[in-house]
Amino acid sequence: MNANLIAELTTVVGAKGILTGNDVHQRRDGWMGAPACQAEAVVRPANTEELSAVMRLCEGQNQTTVVHGGLTGLVGGARTESGDIVISLERMRSIVEIDSLNRTMTVEAGVNLQTVQEAAEAAGLFYPVDLGARGSATIGGTIATNAGGNRVLRYGMTRESVLGLEAVLADGTVVSSLSKVLKNNTGYNLPHLFIGTEGTLGIVTRAVLRLRPKPLGEATALVAVDDFANLSRLLNLAESGLGGGLSSFEVMWRNFYELVTGTERHRPPLPVQAPYYVIIETQGSSNEQEQARLEALLGQALEQDLISDAVLTQSSAEREKIWAIRDDVEALFSLAPIHAFDISLPISAMEPYLEALQAQLDEQWPQNRCIVFGHLGDGNLHIIIGKVPTSDKALVEDRVYRPLQACNGSISAEHGIGLDKKPYLQYSRSAAEIAVMKALKQALDPKNLLNPGKVLN
Ligand SMILES: Cc1cc2nc3c(=O)[nH]c(=O)nc-3n(C[C@H](O)[C@H](O)[C@H](O)COP(=O)(O)OP(=O)(O)OC[C@H]3O[C@@H](n4cnc5c(N)ncnc54)[C@H](O)[C@@H]3O)c2cc1C
Repeated sequence: MNANLIAELTTVVGAKGILTGNDVHQRRDGWMGAPACQAEAVVRPANTEELSAVMRLCEGQNQTTVVHGGLTGLVGGARTESGDIVISLERMRSIVEIDSLNRTMTVEAGVNLQTVQEAAEAAGLFYPVDLGARGSATIGGTIATNAGGNRVLRYGMTRESVLGLEAVLADGTVVSSLSKVLKNNTGYNLPHLFIGTEGTLGIVTRAVLRLRPKPLGEATALVAVDDFANLSRLLNLAESGLGGGLSSFEVMWRNFYELVTGTERHRPPLPVQAPYYVIIETQGSSNEQEQARLEALLGQALEQDLISDAVLTQSSAEREKIWAIRDDVEALFSLAPIHAFDISLPISAMEPYLEALQAQLDEQWPQNRCIVFGHLGDGNLHIIIGKVPTSDKALVEDRVYRPLQACNGSISAEHGIGLDKKPYLQYSRSAAEIAVMKALKQALDPKNLLNPGKVLN
């Protein structure tokens, strides 16, 4: 790294806009357990203009940069090497505007998801993207990873909630497409070029988010299901029977439900005996209406033998207790060492896939514990494989990812590719698709300076 660069960057962002030495190395490169930051400096621009000047300087000196948001990413996308410079959006956290008439919110990319959700709510509106790391994950990070979460079934991934976007390219060019309209078919959709590309094509600096009407009521149930085939029948019934209000359909395999409700933190709302448990949630215009709709749906499902037991929550405290079971990933740490996977595949392929996977795991690691839960409505499974040595990481990853190719599944439903999933990208993307991705990278970042080595080689 050029010795003068730090001084030149400091003239752009000021002394408080740059960290070096211990201030850098005591930071981490990601979520819990991630390695310490290896970069030479953390540059913290205060606005788009400063970032643009920073990137111009870096490009002029062939300086590699890695973008840091809230560092809750789970695939090593924010990892640094010595010689890199981190670009952190932590000083760009403003909510620029809430436009209630057009139902949009314009924000800087460093603002966290929870702040956006709360600001939308205070304005009587709703930002639907939601995930467990909401207090730390930034809007820029959720856009860069096209984050999913608990409400994808109803509102789509982050992509569906971004109307406009501003990004800074590797050479400092500012691409500002801050449109507020849903319909904008004027050639290539540039905002979408940056969504889900994990900071490899540009740094997201501002976004126009699409807000929705605030749901005024909701109802939640936990049901027990005896047969896998009944899960998709139940999903179809819920989609048609809840008048478009279905917002979550979260399935917990018995091994997940048993493990989590076996801890002191929870009491099982339904006895541990069914192979599957599903949280069904509907949102609409009033609690009473949603409660009545969901109750009627549960009656129908019982009549058709799709479910064997059910509990309909009667208060927000009861609702929170049910979601706390689904969200208690901490309980899984008791199976350490664990290997966590986030995959997607057609619902019809899930059962044979999981059976074959379990057989392979049992053969190689008889002591394994394979725990499954997920957003079934989105075809998204989270698989946690415990009691398998960390040294077998690559072997177990191959067991999980390779068979997905045959059933047109995805090695990454929500979390992205980053560094950790890069060796397996070819199981989900054809050679032609990877070639197009490389062509885009080459066009926008010909010197490979932006998040180098992430997603693609
Ligand atoms: C407890 C927990 C629960 C989670 N649940 C979910 C879930 O349900 N669904 C889901 O999809 N994910 C989930 N995640 C993963 C994570 O929260 C998301 O990937 C999130 O979008 C990352 O945001 P971040 O700001 O923390 O990004 P970071 O971790 O800082 O960065 C992630 C990637 O985006 C890039 N990046 C960050 N900011 C920018 C920017 N402004 N411009 C360009 N690139 C940028 C980084 O370089 C990196 O490649 C969960 C994580 C945790 C820890």
